[in-house]
Amino acid sequence: MSVLVYTENADGKFKKSTFEVVSYARAIADQNNTKLIAVSIGSVSAAELATLGKYGAEKVLNVSNEQLKNFVNQAYASIIAEAAKKESADIVVLSNSFSGRGLAPRLGVKLEAGVADGAVALPEQTDGKFKIKKTAFSGKAFAIVELTSANKIISLTPNAYKVVETNKTASVEDFSVEAKAGDFAAVIKEIVRSTDKVSLPDADIVISGGRGLKGPENWGMVEELADLLGAALACSKPVSDAGWRPHSEHVGQTGIAISPNLYIAIGISGAIQHLAGVSSSKVIVVINKDAEAPFFKVADYGIVGDAFEVVPKIITAIKQF
Ligand code: FAD
Repeated sequence: MSVLVYTENADGKFKKSTFEVVSYARAIADQNNTKLIAVSIGSVSAAELATLGKYGAEKVLNVSNEQLKNFVNQAYASIIAEAAKKESADIVVLSNSFSGRGLAPRLGVKLEAGVADGAVALPEQTDGKFKIKKTAFSGKAFAIVELTSANKIISLTPNAYKVVETNKTASVEDFSVEAKAGDFAAVIKEIVRSTDKVSLPDADIVISGGRGLKGPENWGMVEELADLLGAALACSKPVSDAGWRPHSEHVGQTGIAISPNLYIAIGISGAIQHLAGVSSSKVIVVINKDAEAPFFKVADYGIVGDAFEVVPKIITAIKQF
């Protein structure tokens, strides 16, 4: 047996969540006293591939092909499944990212494997049982699931596991899989990034604004705070519905689910549908002028006050720091 980890990249550079997932897969390989193999798909330089050794991969299977430059769900799943078979991997680990959410169920079918999506901790392996803690009901609860199949797929919630450096080095091996026409029935021709700011699902810190900010013209202070903290921007659903902010920033049950280390909510009431996407954040700070706002019940730190007074004060304080 072995553990295989799928390593996502953006424009040839590994994402932060990739290093988390490799560290996590390394720990699972150590639990089982086995080796960790990484698989990389797309155009990634040899130097970048070698960095995976630092986080515990012993070998990297590199699938480099122009047709695979952009993420193609079915084709990527076929390659990862073939890599798992080649390496006799019975545990496949990936990030519960946008791509990971598409890949995990496909891998489950291809490898006849049980799937634990949204894992937040290492598996507990006792008495021949393999149990894993994962998020459930859009982040409103946790579930402990037991995977009883021989092959197992685990997708890790971003920011749920710390990056750990090791003293290993990784060998890099080219790997190719014959493409099946059906795998390319739908392809992404080009990805045009709308912003060069921190990507929301990967961000360590997220600053989020709600209807309490009154209108799009008031987002300047939110953007300034985000720039100072190196944070990504998010918003509540009514804000994106009103066109104050792009839909890509909408978090919650019907938007993106995030779990940053720090989530700062400004002028957001904390409706259950909003909390569904943000409640697994490590530290939640709420700024709201209504002391009865439901968000305060789940906040680690709360400031009862007018955002238009509080946020500029925070910005001034950070600048003086
Ligand atoms: P409001 O509820 O209007 O709250 C504004 C808050 O700002 C209030 O608490 C107020 O006290 C505070 N405020 C006002 N002025 C100031 C000030 N000057 N300074 C500080 N605070 C101030 N919502 C989501 O966000 N994400 C989702 O994914 C989502 N999915 C949904 C799915 C369904 C099926 C449904 C029915 C609803 C969904 N919603 C979602 C909507 C959700 O129910 C709430 O309506 C929404 O989250 C409220 O947004 P808000 O907190 O920005 O606005």
